[in-house]
Amino acid sequence: MGAPLSRYQVVIKLPIPTAKPIPLPPIVLPLPTEGLDVEGSEILTHNDGTLLYKDKRVIIHIRDATSHLPRFHLANCATLVEMKHAGRFERYVVSNQEDGYFHIRMGSSSLQQRKLPVCQNCLDRLRWKGFSIETMSSSFRKTVVDNFSIKEFFFKYPHSLHKVLPVYSDGSASKNEYPTNWDEISSELRRQLGYVCQSCHLVVGEKNKRFLHVHHLNGIRMDCRVENLKCLCISCHANQPMHDQMKFTSEYTEFKNKFRPDKDDQY
Ligand SMILES: [Zn+2]
Ligand SMILES: [Zn+2]
Ligand SMILES: [Zn+2]
Repeated sequence: MGAPLSRYQVVIKLPIPTAKPIPLPPIVLPLPTEGLDVEGSEILTHNDGTLLYKDKRVIIHIRDATSHLPRFHLANCATLVEMKHAGRFERYVVSNQEDGYFHIRMGSSSLQQRKLPVCQNCLDRLRWKGFSIETMSSSFRKTVVDNFSIKEFFFKYPHSLHKVLPVYSDGSASKNEYPTNWDEISSELRRQLGYVCQSCHLVVGEKNKRFLHVHHLNGIRMDCRVENLKCLCISCHANQPMHDQMKFTSEYTEFKNKFRPDKDDQY
């Protein structure tokens, strides 16, 4: 807005959005790591500790396991923080299943459905039903893990951050989904615009492109026409209508500290 147009007069060609999101297999995402730039790494952390992907609370797990059965994560727990700091390139999967069964691959076997236990560090991070690694016995903790319900978790921490929307859609309501190749579309747009915010013109740069989002002007995520997309820094994005929740992410704070130490207008 208000930018000299010439600066952005580039011919933009985006991949054509694929028609329908396919429910399975789940979206494979590398975990965002400090200083490491990975495609499609858009897992954010809500200030309540839960994990967000594309404006929704999600749970994640490793799909390719080596020796022991992986745990699934609900929060930016000690395990995930440690992995990020160690710069480990493990691949995580965002899943929608709520029955506790996940698609994983053990060793060299093919993809299979397995019941996975919830991560205790996550329960501790969220103080789920008072869960505490420090004060609870291991047998008691195991009981909590065995009885953990993903449905109950998403009841307490709804998928949707927008409270005006129903928590669960009944399947008949059309979902506002992104195309399956959204990551590619979003990456291409940011790259072709030179990693600059189209609102405040901040040069975010390729290295920090996780702070640069692609916003849908009309709110319809499947509508990926160039004129409906706007490349915005996380700060400008959070100022869009209905985007206030973005201000409660640790990435927002991180961005503010990194890029706007003096222009602190939001808090
Ligand atoms: Zn965890
Ligand atoms: Zn947006
Ligand atoms: Zn901006």
